[in-house]
Amino acid sequence: MGKSPQDVLRQIKDEGIELIDLKFTDLHGKWQHLTVCSDLIDEEAFANGLAFDGSSIRGWKAINESDMDMVPDASTAWIDPFYRHKTLSLICSIREPRSGEPYARCPRALAQKALGYLAGTGLADTAFFGPEPEFFIFDDVRYNSGEGGCFYSVDTIEAPWNSGRIEEGGNLAYKIQLKEGYFPVPPNDTAQDIRSEMLLLMGQLGIPMEKHHHEVAGAGQHELGMKFAELIEAADNVMIYKYIVRNVARKYGKTATFMPKPVFNDNGTGMHVHQSLFKGGQPLFFGEGTYANLSQTARWYIGGILKHAPSFLAFTNPTTNSYKRLVPGFEAPVNLVYSQGNRSAAVRIPLTGPNPKAKRLEFRPGDALANPYLAFSAMMMAGVDGIKNQIDPGDGFDEDLFELPEERLASIPTVPASLNGALEALNADKNYLMEGGVFTEDFIDNWIDIKYEEVQQLRQRPHPHEFTMYYDA
Ligand code: GLN
Ligand code: MG
Ligand code: MG
Ligand code: MG
Repeated sequence: MGKSPQDVLRQIKDEGIELIDLKFTDLHGKWQHLTVCSDLIDEEAFANGLAFDGSSIRGWKAINESDMDMVPDASTAWIDPFYRHKTLSLICSIREPRSGEPYARCPRALAQKALGYLAGTGLADTAFFGPEPEFFIFDDVRYNSGEGGCFYSVDTIEAPWNSGRIEEGGNLAYKIQLKEGYFPVPPNDTAQDIRSEMLLLMGQLGIPMEKHHHEVAGAGQHELGMKFAELIEAADNVMIYKYIVRNVARKYGKTATFMPKPVFNDNGTGMHVHQSLFKGGQPLFFGEGTYANLSQTARWYIGGILKHAPSFLAFTNPTTNSYKRLVPGFEAPVNLVYSQGNRSAAVRIPLTGPNPKAKRLEFRPGDALANPYLAFSAMMMAGVDGIKNQIDPGDGFDEDLFELPEERLASIPTVPASLNGALEALNADKNYLMEGGVFTEDFIDNWIDIKYEEVQQLRQRPHPHEFTMYYDA
């Protein structure tokens, strides 16, 4: 990481690289790619981009205005470990071909605008993000048995071993039980080698890694720990993380999913996000002798996060399935309060030592299907709005919210209960995102349309559990 265009051009020449894979992120947070011959990449390509047809990308342009430019970022160069032919990978942002303006619906270009806006406010010049995506690994039935149709083995999903008895299907007691995955050694943990391979590969690509472990969900949930980075780099790292996880899983005949709640009654999959602001190299979130050692700036940032969370959840929790995870009792917070250490609060202030640079907050409701460029930008815009308007977050809340009696819970604000609810909140509260033209109104309206379509898709289909409740009612 950290290479200049000249470094990359030299590497292409020195290593005789013939193929360059240009990867860019669509609205949904999926990578799309195009492989070009290396002689198409020169200083001009790094400066002005390469033309491509953007008409077939979901939620982007119509066919009659589909020309766009892909602008590769030299600092993201790495050799793609999954291709047989040596190929250099470059992450791109999208620009309008004629004006050279950032394409308003390109998530990575939007994140670049968000950083420009932050600097323009004079409040801070650097935003650090530390995302923690989790994931499940399931057997790929198609891969293992050659049969089509089913994405995961039903045996994994229904978790018959949860009763703790020897069942019809045989003794499954050696399997990790639901919610007990954190973190027994092998042979219970069967994914040690897969996770190690993922972690080491990430390290080889230049991403500073810290650890890997089984996660709480017993049905095969995992996490690799990455170091925090500046906003764009942190979002790039999430994209690389998902790519590595999915491809290494595939190598082992498995599939990996970042779906927030694939298994009923087991923990869901989150993407907690640690965040802090700096100015001139100085941390802005540390305060001496205050609650959780938070500065006034950090308190206001939290105020903005808590105020706008119902709206920006449309980006941090962007699927219908996201809201099946946001229920009490599974370490996924639903209450919009902040707390020192308490994992049942939406915003947790990790206990950090005396180093002011480590002071940060962790937003816990978000999940790993979030498009990281959009989610990080939206949270930062909410936090900055909090600072600008001095939004007070109230007192820290240190009781276990999962254990609180109903009548006390009633007065505590909660996250929306559905994607539809989050979209309504976004529609009603979007000005903070549009400051400085970071999110355009067109972007937000398009997002609401696309996501509302997903709400409708689900709403129109009978659910398997409705058969249990109503078939013979
Ligand atoms: N999987 C939990 C969630 O849904 C988090 C578990 C953890 O990291 N402590 O957020
Ligand atoms: Mg973690
Ligand atoms: Mg975790
Ligand atoms: Mg965490």
